[in-house]
Amino acid sequence: MMANAQVPVAAIGPFGDSPVQVACPNCHQTVVSKVEHSSGLLTYLFCGGLFLCGFVLGCCLIPFCVDRLKNAQHTCPTCKTLLGVYKRL
Ligand SMILES: [Zn+2]
Repeated sequence: MMANAQVPVAAIGPFGDSPVQVACPNCHQTVVSKVEHSSGLLTYLFCGGLFLCGFVLGCCLIPFCVDRLKNAQHTCPTCKTLLGVYKRL
């Protein structure tokens, strides 16, 4: 393990909704992660829940537009390495 006194070492994770400063394990730079949201299990559960509650078909697609219900993928903006994923479940 190499210690770098100048750069505050950001622990990998916990990842959340927002970009976090991490040391990329691939290009060894301290970067601010790029966050992309993808539909996760909770999105589908939420969709199913809405459907069961009697919402019309259109409404049950709403969760797919809500980033808060999605997994957040953190990637390195420099080398595109996947740094971590924040999962809802
Ligand atoms: Zn990188």
